[in-house]
Amino acid sequence: MRKVFVKTFGCQMNEYDTKKVLKILSNEYEETSNLEEADLVFINTCSVRDKAEQKLYSAIGALSKLKSQKPNLKIGVGGCVAQQEGERIIQKAELVDFVVGTHNLSLIPSLIKNVEQGRGKQVAVDYRDEWESLPLGYNNSSVTAFVSISRGCDKNCSFCIVPKTRGPEVSRPLEEILRECKILLLQGVKEITLLGQTVNSWGKDLKPKKRFVHLLQEVIKLDPRVRVRFTSPHPQEMSSELLDFIAEHPQLGKHMHLPLQSGSDRILKLMNRNYKIWRYLDIVAEAKEKIPDLSISTDIIVGFPGETDEDFNQTLNVMKQVEFDSSFSFVFSPRPGTKAAGMPNQVPKNIALQRLQELQELQKELTRKRLQRFLGKTVEVLIEGPAAKTPDLDLQGRSEHNVYVVVNRKPDIDGFVNVKITEINSNTLRGEIV
Ligand code: SF4
Repeated sequence: MRKVFVKTFGCQMNEYDTKKVLKILSNEYEETSNLEEADLVFINTCSVRDKAEQKLYSAIGALSKLKSQKPNLKIGVGGCVAQQEGERIIQKAELVDFVVGTHNLSLIPSLIKNVEQGRGKQVAVDYRDEWESLPLGYNNSSVTAFVSISRGCDKNCSFCIVPKTRGPEVSRPLEEILRECKILLLQGVKEITLLGQTVNSWGKDLKPKKRFVHLLQEVIKLDPRVRVRFTSPHPQEMSSELLDFIAEHPQLGKHMHLPLQSGSDRILKLMNRNYKIWRYLDIVAEAKEKIPDLSISTDIIVGFPGETDEDFNQTLNVMKQVEFDSSFSFVFSPRPGTKAAGMPNQVPKNIALQRLQELQELQKELTRKRLQRFLGKTVEVLIEGPAAKTPDLDLQGRSEHNVYVVVNRKPDIDGFVNVKITEINSNTLRGEIV
C-alpha cells in the first residue's frame, strides 16, 4: 500500500470529507501521520476564517523540500479554497498536481491516475450531484461519528462564503443516510452527529419533500440506544414539531446548538439572517419549557460592519437572557466574494477585539454558573477515550448536555456510563462512575 498524509483545515464537514477521501483512496493508499513517508499529500482547505489562502500556500511551501527529495510525491488540494480558486492554485503553486472541488471527491483516484500517466495537472471543480458516487461509510475507530445529510446552503448570509464554495442546498436521500448510519452502528458507533449547513432544513428539496423530524425518527429506529446529535440548525427553520420530538426522545440528549450571530435586529438584517431577536428568544423559551434542563450553545460574530456599541450591548443582553451554556465567538473577518466584505463602516480591529474579549469574559461567567447545576448530580456520559490533558490517568466523554466529563481511567470502560459529578472546572466536569 502507498501512503497518504492528509492535512484538514476547518469545520466538521471538512473532517467528514477527509474521512470520505480516505475511504475513496483506501484500495491503494493507507493513511500515515508521518509526512516523510507519504506518497500523496492531500490538503483539505477551509475559507470560512481569515487567511485561508495564506495558510494553504504556506502549507504547500513547507512541502517543497520533501517534493525535491521524492519527485514522485503527489500533492492535491481540496475543500472550499480549491472550489473557489480552482486553476489559480496550480498557477500560483507549481508543486500542486491536482485541485478538486467540494463536489468532485469521487474523482480523486482518476485525477491521480491522469497525473501519473503524464496527462498534466488536473483540476475538477464543476458542480455535480455526487451523493451516489461517494462510498458509504468510512473507517471509524471511535464511538462517535459524523454523517453528512445535506450539502450547500440556500441562505446567503452576507458574511458567509459557503453558498459560493458548497453551492445550493442538496439533501442526501434518506435511504443513503440510513445505510451509512447502519454501517457505522455495526462498527460500534454509539453517537451519530448529523451534519448539514442548515441541518434542520433537510428534505425540503427531495421529491417527495421530507421533514427533518422524519429523518431523526428513522435514525433512532435503527438502534434505540444510539445517541443522535445534529449541527447546525438555523433559527428560521426551527419548528415546534422538532422541539417536541427532542423533548420526547432522550436519544436526542439535552443540548441544542442555535446560532445567534448577533443580538441586534439591525445587524441581523445586515447579515441577512432572516429572523429577529424576538423570534430567537421565542424559540429558546419554547425549547426550555419543553425540554427541562436543556443546555444551549451558540455562534456569535463580533464587529460586523456597522456594529455600534449599542448593537454590541444588545448581543450581551441576549446572552444574559438566554444564559448560553457555551458559545463559539469570532471577530468578523471579511471573506472576499461576500456581500459583507464590501459593506461600509467596517469596525476597527482593536474595537472588535475588545468587544470579543468582553463577550468571552461574560461567556466564562455564564458557563461557570450553568455548570454549577451538575455538582452532586449523576449524568450519563459516553466515554470517548483518554482525557486530552491527562491521557495516562483519565478518560473523557460527553454528557447528554454535550459537556466534557473526565473520570479516572479504569479497564473495560466502553460506551455509556453514569457519572456522579464531584468537581467543576472552567468548562469541563469531573466525576466518579457510579
Ligand atoms: S446559514 Fe448562513 S452562515 Fe450558515 S452556511 Fe448558510 S449562508 Fe453560511
